[in-house]
Amino acid sequence: MKTVDVVVIGGGFAGVTAARDLQKRGFKVLVLEARDRLGGRTWSTDRNGFHVELGGTWIHWTQPFVWAEKERYGLEIQETPGCVAERVAIKVDGQVQELREDQLVEFVSGFEQFFAEAQQVWERPYDSHYNWPAIEQRDSLSVADRLASLDLTPLQRTSIGGFLEILSMNQPENASYLEMMRCWSLTGWNYSLFNDSAARYKLKRGTGALLQAMVSDGGFDVMLDTTVASVQQTADGVSVTTTTGEQLTAKRAVVTVPLNVLHSVEFDPPLKPVKVEASKLKHVGGGAKVFFEVEGDPGAVMTLSRSTDSALIGSFTYQRGEQRSVLAGFSLEPGALEKPVEYWQPVLEEFVPGIRLLSTFGHDWGDDALSQGSWCTYRPGTFVRFADELPKHDSNLYFASGDHGEGWRGFIEGAISSGSKTAVAVAASLNH
Ligand SMILES: Cc1cc2nc3c(=O)[nH]c(=O)nc-3n(C[C@H](O)[C@H](O)[C@H](O)COP(=O)(O)OP(=O)(O)OC[C@H]3O[C@@H](n4cnc5c(N)ncnc54)[C@H](O)[C@@H]3O)c2cc1C
Repeated sequence: MKTVDVVVIGGGFAGVTAARDLQKRGFKVLVLEARDRLGGRTWSTDRNGFHVELGGTWIHWTQPFVWAEKERYGLEIQETPGCVAERVAIKVDGQVQELREDQLVEFVSGFEQFFAEAQQVWERPYDSHYNWPAIEQRDSLSVADRLASLDLTPLQRTSIGGFLEILSMNQPENASYLEMMRCWSLTGWNYSLFNDSAARYKLKRGTGALLQAMVSDGGFDVMLDTTVASVQQTADGVSVTTTTGEQLTAKRAVVTVPLNVLHSVEFDPPLKPVKVEASKLKHVGGGAKVFFEVEGDPGAVMTLSRSTDSALIGSFTYQRGEQRSVLAGFSLEPGALEKPVEYWQPVLEEFVPGIRLLSTFGHDWGDDALSQGSWCTYRPGTFVRFADELPKHDSNLYFASGDHGEGWRGFIEGAISSGSKTAVAVAASLNH
């Protein structure tokens, strides 16, 4: 039976960060990862001759932990052409129109109206308790509730609705208004930063390059293709059993499996009911990121729509080439990744006339047993109950994930900050 100081369950950014930081503090760390690769919901890979990110992609300097990692390892960034688009096509009232310069004020002021109270509610977006009564009061509200309470123009209604459907990866009635306000506040209550932090800057050599830098620097042990079935707390630590019956012991375990998957691991004693409830209820981040390989160069384009008006809620040029280019798109349509080119061609062409679609590709994170969803968005009415509870440790079990905690929850940033903070807590507990 293998024995280490700390076993980390799951090798996404939260797990890799926790493992690196703990190993560097002198502890012997082992990461157990169910997949045949590290990275979890980030996945840098080559498809159809393009270097793409099938999962988490964009980072920004308003995200302190991930930006520090990028700087620390000297990694370069690359702009996403469609995020600073020459042409923005929006479907308003059933008609695709090009956003004109004279409509920009109307466009941005819609977001400002939608988020008018964000500065008061989330004056400190890393500390929900700073104005807890305001958070409690709005916990039950959805994006749809907020939209319904405002007198917006059709252009504003579509642009906010479409943008927030992408940001939450669900319909407005299923996404928490508080969550969206938190993101707006994290970017300084400013549309330009809000837009850029969502999709402008990606790592030139991919999230895989950052992950590799952290793994090499950390020097911890990794076992891939190793799925944890159960975790038992013992008098002086934990005993972990894999699905193939292997056992190992450690003084502490850091559990980083996604929120939507947590309930599938058996814990003895059982996890606190609130953790199990949150995991079974699931966060609502679903949908699909669909890559569109197209002929020639469509230019720097962005498209936006409500899911009620198009299978494509948004897309933008991801990589340009003379012969072939690729757009990254987002869809809430069930089975979006299985639909053939013939299905997507007219959908895309409605926004970008004359475009010729060659292929589509992506990864279905909702159908993936090890993620069961895309990025984390709380449903309305769950923040107050879950936000503080999910990161809490339980004796020798510690929890780190991009799916919980304050600040940039639901992002790579959230995973790194959570992994890093958890490593400090675990180290402190072991040094006593
Ligand atoms: C399509 C998509 C697009 C995204 N876009 C962005 C973006 O542009 N920018 C951004 O910042 N974020 C983005 N995100 C979110 C970001 O990728 C995640 O928030 C972050 O990567 C989560 O990291 P994590 O370590 O918490 O979880 P994960 O990366 O999910 O890591 C958890 C690991 O646990 C493993 N695991 C699960 N069960 C077991 C088990 N029983 N035993 C062992 N291992 C197990 C999983 O295989 C996985 O590797 C996106 C996510 C998706 C899916």
